[in-house]
Amino acid sequence: EQPMLSFDAFIRHWAKEKPDEPALEQGDDRSSFADLEGRTAAIVTFLQSRGLRRGDRIAWLGKNSKLYFELFYGAARLGVVMAPIGWRLAAPEIAHILGDTGAKILLLGEGFEDVAGKACAGLATQPAVITSAQAAQHIAQAQPADFDPAGPDDAVLQLYTSGTTGHPKGAVLSNRNLFSLRVPAEDAGQPWSHWDEGEAILIAMPCAHIGGTGLGIMALGGGVRAIVQEEFTPVGVLEAFEQGVTRMFIVPAALQMVVQHPRAKNTDFSHVKYVLYGAAPIPPDLLREAVETIPNAGFLQCYGMTETTGTIAVLPPEDHDLAGNDRMRSAGRAVPGATIKIVDEEGREVPRGEVGEVIVRSPSNMIEYWNLPEATAASLNDGWMRTGDAAYMDEDGYVFIQDRIKDMIISGGENVYPAQVESVIYGHPAIAEVAVIGVPDDTWGEAVKACVVPREGHDIDAEEIIAWARERLAAFKVPKTIDIIPAMPRNPSGKILRRELRAPYWEGHERQVN
Ligand code: ATP
Ligand code: MG
Repeated sequence: EQPMLSFDAFIRHWAKEKPDEPALEQGDDRSSFADLEGRTAAIVTFLQSRGLRRGDRIAWLGKNSKLYFELFYGAARLGVVMAPIGWRLAAPEIAHILGDTGAKILLLGEGFEDVAGKACAGLATQPAVITSAQAAQHIAQAQPADFDPAGPDDAVLQLYTSGTTGHPKGAVLSNRNLFSLRVPAEDAGQPWSHWDEGEAILIAMPCAHIGGTGLGIMALGGGVRAIVQEEFTPVGVLEAFEQGVTRMFIVPAALQMVVQHPRAKNTDFSHVKYVLYGAAPIPPDLLREAVETIPNAGFLQCYGMTETTGTIAVLPPEDHDLAGNDRMRSAGRAVPGATIKIVDEEGREVPRGEVGEVIVRSPSNMIEYWNLPEATAASLNDGWMRTGDAAYMDEDGYVFIQDRIKDMIISGGENVYPAQVESVIYGHPAIAEVAVIGVPDDTWGEAVKACVVPREGHDIDAEEIIAWARERLAAFKVPKTIDIIPAMPRNPSGKILRRELRAPYWEGHERQVN
């Protein structure tokens, strides 16, 4: 029997196996797997009636909603490619992505009419704009009919990278990319790839990020109930845990808000089986605090990127050992089906323990960057995807991410990875947030600077922070200067934008990047 590798196959499978069990819900709005099959078939009819065919694009601009997932799944059954756009983006950023997709239809979440109007105004070709209410009506009226379903290698999702290092790029992902790692072989032997009766997944990260949409795919692959929350709030997550959510994915910045929320102390976490976290480096102190706050949960660190359909390496629960093993600083090992190598600038594998670039071969690697053949050629080579991340691998295959190669600071000929300096400074009690950047320096080429946000009620003494770092870091890694700032610039996936912090210092200078 062929492995199931498409939305159409999964939706029909679960509708047959467990028609009456819950598939998707948001508040009181619930669909069973049978409902999901019917609704997505109606969406196929609706899209066909609008002249959409395999390979055409549609876009979603809105917060998370059950309707978004239904539209995505329905489009994917037909092979129409969904491109969700981050709702926190400004109109010109939305216009850039929307124009890039060439979407024929723009579907709107509630409240996005105005910004959509502004974003569409400057586009050469206007998409048809359809609100959620209109879409719901179309779906209710459409009659399911026979259609030719998309297969494993058809594109179904165009997900834009977070735009941390530059403009977001559209990663084109096929059915196979989406399902190959998310539905591991039975014999893969990882307890967390097994689903127990009655499990529920919380989708609280934005659907324009793989941590949002990817969880919907994980739920569908496992035939598990997915609970959609419009947007992330710490209280929403705590309440969902109390109401029986067993797993979720969360980025470090959001995890911090959850575990440090006053209500966390009185929350019953007993239902939680796994907390999946990742998408950015996690400060070790935060990870410890999280493990202590939700002690019964298995913590799983996920490392990956949009271009690899998310997770390609996992740090399993047993390596989250508070008794102090160094593995807790690792992003884990390649998941079954993916291969990770650490290579030098010529693409040769480096010895274990030496830092190089992470490259990965995986059935989840994207087809291409949309409209960017040069970027595609530079990143995808013979099935291997370059991640742009610097890391070393230990003897047991554990990957230790150092940082993004583009953010590495070269000071006096020494390589400084900002993330390491940040994790030390983060440990200082007066610090809420920290980002480390390289600024131009006549003597050193680049000098290390730390930008810090004080914790509420704390004053920061720059000299004290520098002394704190000096006790814990090699001299060349110690920040020469400290900027105290009110808040961190972040992108919609919660990642700190070091390039924005760096920009004012580099005006009129050329920064060397590998
Ligand atoms: P852009 O590519 O547009 O600059 P981005 O790289 O932030 O943005 P994503 O695809 O959302 O876009 O993020 C992937 C990157 O996130 C990885 O390349 C890596 O740098 C970082 N990352 C992901 N997981 C982890 C992790 N567990 N630990 C450290 N960093 C991580
Ligand atoms: Mg990237």
